[in-house]
Amino acid sequence: MQLSNRINKIEESGIRKVFDMATSIGSDAINLSIGQPHFKTPFELKKAGQTAIRNNFNAYMPTKGYLPLREKITIKLDRDNNIQANKEDVLITAGVSGGLFLLFSVVLNKGDEVILPNPYFVLYAEILKYLGVKIVLHNTYPDFRLNAPKLEKLVTDKTKLIIINSPNNPTGVVYDQSELEELAEVAEKHNLLVVSDEIYEVFDYKKKFFSIGSTYKNTVTLNGFSKNLSITGWRIGYAHGPSEIIEAMNKLQMYSFVCAPSIAQRAVSQIMDADIPVFDYIKNRDYLYSQLKDQYKVSLSEGAFYTFVKVPEAIDDFYDKLIDQKLLIVPGNIFSRNNDYFRISFAVDFELLQKGVQILKDI
Ligand code: PMP
Repeated sequence: MQLSNRINKIEESGIRKVFDMATSIGSDAINLSIGQPHFKTPFELKKAGQTAIRNNFNAYMPTKGYLPLREKITIKLDRDNNIQANKEDVLITAGVSGGLFLLFSVVLNKGDEVILPNPYFVLYAEILKYLGVKIVLHNTYPDFRLNAPKLEKLVTDKTKLIIINSPNNPTGVVYDQSELEELAEVAEKHNLLVVSDEIYEVFDYKKKFFSIGSTYKNTVTLNGFSKNLSITGWRIGYAHGPSEIIEAMNKLQMYSFVCAPSIAQRAVSQIMDADIPVFDYIKNRDYLYSQLKDQYKVSLSEGAFYTFVKVPEAIDDFYDKLIDQKLLIVPGNIFSRNNDYFRISFAVDFELLQKGVQILKDI
């Protein structure tokens, strides 16, 4: 069977490969590679899911999403993000991943250019390749901050949009307001769409999170519940942005995902007002940084649950040595064309983090 040229452009996620390695090592793997929270799904939410099934929320939902949930999201966007949203401009998606797929499909043509800060979350690059879009990397090494004047030099007449992700996977950087306002000026000057992936919003250790959508209207804000509610398997997220784009995404959702999972939509809408505390990873973050900083080039993460660490130049076969010790991290070339950094996830039990840190120190 000859598969499509499109699909042949996509590589299997390197993160999955590390995941498979964890399976083959077995239960004594020290797995600091996983990009999902380690805490249990809140009890109230599990109960709401069960009740949703019992109350027959098992059928198709409106393609745009369950109205009470969309209404609650407009309240949340106003309260937390200073984005005054109309409920018609909110689309419930099958996770942020589903939202990204719809969004890129409806706004990009083959040959268009997209500016992507490097390093980046791997899904963006693979979907863009799938669509035949040219990725133009904005190099952010080694401080991983945006630099609007430098980024502006990458704009051509084919540039359609800029992707940002803050708090950032894999660097743990949270862009500050002035950084984003400068970026918004560049986007406005060249009439570019900004895509803001805010999935790690609640994991913001400086508590200064800023949404670019509050200052620049030509923004599609993507967010979801996978990480804050620890429901990565429930597949629920949302997109807010210009009506024309949301309507186009809605049209494609109708013929692809049809709707986001009904049970998840009902359950999340029911607990959105409850003040469910999010697991605080600050102790893990501080520990990781304080233990590694004398031997590794590492910064204190400002957000998400990742730290991006430089591979020590003096050590040969560094990655092989980690695997020999059954320590799993994600090599930097999964998020970039460079392989001189690696990502550690600190969303794990403290004891497991201690074991991993000890191996890194001994090596
Ligand atoms: N964006 C980023 C930056 C992520 O790290 C992830 C998950 N690893 C996603 C989006 C996907 O999230 P979802 O489960 O909502 O599809």
